Amino acid sequence: MSFLGPQNFMQEPHNEKIPVGISSCLLGERVRYNGGHKYHSFCAEQLHLYFDFKPFCPEVAIGLGVPRETIHLVADKDGSVRAVGTANSNMDVTDRLREFAESIADQAKTLRGYIFMNKSPSCGLVSANVYSNDGKTVVKGSGVFAERLRNLFPLLPVEEAVHLDDLYVRENFISRVFLYDRWIKEVMENPSAKNLIEFHSRQKYLVMSYGQALYRQAGAIISGANRKNLQNVMGRYIEVLMQGTVRPPTRKGHVNALHHVAGYLRDSLSGELRQNLAEVIEQYRIGQVALAVPINLLLQYLETSTNAYIKQQTYLRPYPVQLRLREEI
Ligand code: SF4
Repeated sequence: MSFLGPQNFMQEPHNEKIPVGISSCLLGERVRYNGGHKYHSFCAEQLHLYFDFKPFCPEVAIGLGVPRETIHLVADKDGSVRAVGTANSNMDVTDRLREFAESIADQAKTLRGYIFMNKSPSCGLVSANVYSNDGKTVVKGSGVFAERLRNLFPLLPVEEAVHLDDLYVRENFISRVFLYDRWIKEVMENPSAKNLIEFHSRQKYLVMSYGQALYRQAGAIISGANRKNLQNVMGRYIEVLMQGTVRPPTRKGHVNALHHVAGYLRDSLSGELRQNLAEVIEQYRIGQVALAVPINLLLQYLETSTNAYIKQQTYLRPYPVQLRLREEI
């Protein structure tokens, strides 16, 4: 049996690539101010197998050209932030960058996530330098394009490329992209109270890994779903779910979810195998093994289970196993 888990246990969650926006320079396009790029090998060589990347370079798109004068962010006394030329502060491209974000809204509606280049005054999410008017102080903030896009699509999973080098952040971002994709396909494209409740049911242990409170909150929102309030309930539910999953689950959260899933094997496993499973979960809890180890053991033991409810849990396989993300956290 493969270490990655029984191959015939569940179908891979997706056969199609998922549309995800990305800063063009991260794919190696020579669009930076100096004619260079910021090639990100994990995105370009691994994620592209699962994500149908839609690259955007807002600065090129608004006609600044390559090479070009650099821009930076300056905060006015009233707190508003403008993107202006570094050498020529009369060159103000703030509105053009915002308008570009608005102009791609129809396309961005189809995206399930966005990976931004860090530090950029256009694309940075949280790491762009924002200078005070007198140039004496610098704080971190959002690039103009990235900020406008986030305001337009607040549910969209977003991350800066540099943060994907953190394996916990990477795993969580990718898990959220697939979660959001399932939401669109399984509920938004065919909205009904039944589909909403079934979706929530399939995500039970995935959501629980982020904490019991999130699971209870999400469950309380959908408990009163009916035909009349469906759109409202759906909106509140997905907002809570996407906000509640921004931070990766803790080890404690995973241990809780693992024990709950293991509970479904209580009657079908021998005492020895149950003990073995408990020991492996404990090894994960104290950091001796990666999350993939107890998950793969559960998959193996669940292979012969006839319990359809637990087998459909997305927690067991939230994205293609070939990404091997749980082998490193
Ligand atoms: S960070 Fe954004 S604006 Fe700058 S080169 Fe990359 S895609 Fe273009």
